[in-house]
Amino acid sequence: MQLAIATLLSTLLVYTSNAGSGGWDHDPTSMIGPKYWGNVSAICRDGRKQSPINIVPPSTIYQPYPALNLTVPEGNAVFKFGNGGHDVSGHPVVSSGGNILLRGGPLGAAYKLHNIHIHYGNKSMPASEHSVERARTTGELHAVFYNSSFTTLSDAAADNSSSAIAVIGIRFAAGLWVNESYYHAGLQSFFENVASLTYKGNETTHSFNMSDLLRPEDIDRFYTYEGSLTTPNCQETVQWLVMEKTQYVRSTLIDAISHFRSGSTLTSKLIIGNARPVQALNGRTIYRNFQIPQSEPSIAPSTWRTGNAPASTTPVVSTTTSGVSPIAAAPVVLTTTVLVFTFATLKN
Ligand SMILES: [Zn+2]
Repeated sequence: MQLAIATLLSTLLVYTSNAGSGGWDHDPTSMIGPKYWGNVSAICRDGRKQSPINIVPPSTIYQPYPALNLTVPEGNAVFKFGNGGHDVSGHPVVSSGGNILLRGGPLGAAYKLHNIHIHYGNKSMPASEHSVERARTTGELHAVFYNSSFTTLSDAAADNSSSAIAVIGIRFAAGLWVNESYYHAGLQSFFENVASLTYKGNETTHSFNMSDLLRPEDIDRFYTYEGSLTTPNCQETVQWLVMEKTQYVRSTLIDAISHFRSGSTLTSKLIIGNARPVQALNGRTIYRNFQIPQSEPSIAPSTWRTGNAPASTTPVVSTTTSGVSPIAAAPVVLTTTVLVFTFATLKN
């Protein structure tokens, strides 16, 4: 009997410690890691429209969507930033000016901003959630919006509609360059604002302008598809908008949050690496709103898989050597391979 009580107590203790982080984590070796999220919500295991996914640009379909459009009411530039245990995020403090709204693209209505948060790794451990040609970048920022016909994100997530929620994904890579203009100022501002949130529950309030994070040129080229939230309960109510461009952040800013904890003590797990593995496409179509030039290779060179890519506005399809990193030579290697192949074909 004593043994039974001891077992029960230890079970309760384990449950309590898991419950502290919501009963799931991103650790692939953990018993509550992504492989076991089906125990939290069956949709995570059985769903057919799960996210994130791997994007293969030549397999995507062009659609001339209207431009995405972000409206930031005047004076609405205060965010509450917090360490939520699974990620670090910023929530807009809604002023009398109203909500920050997203319209356009495939969206048939105005969508209200819920939060911005990041999934991140480091230079040697890429942790963007979406991959392109199986290549992940250092991390991915998500700007989560929900259809303004709902009162809260939870209401939208509980709906059966496949587009109750819209999430913008911006993949970013760590860099270290002299030229400050290579970095994305809005993204860097996010990192600076969360830099002190080491432990779960830490919060701070700062001014933050969404117009600097999602400038028109940041959201002009995107992939879009029907998917899900990438954390439990994995509801399949998300119209994804994954930006084509990789943005760049000073590596020291990303390194500064590498020690962030998923709990309130120094012994709790690290948040870094908080990316879900890519999920099966299951026949879904991925659309894009931009043309891929026929003459340029659309396959990302394998040497960019660390996410430590050179600065460029369109790094995935770039064939120039204008970057300052030695890795900039990678596209030339690919082009040479293509030329050699063509030559060999002609010879035969
Ligand atoms: Zn996310």
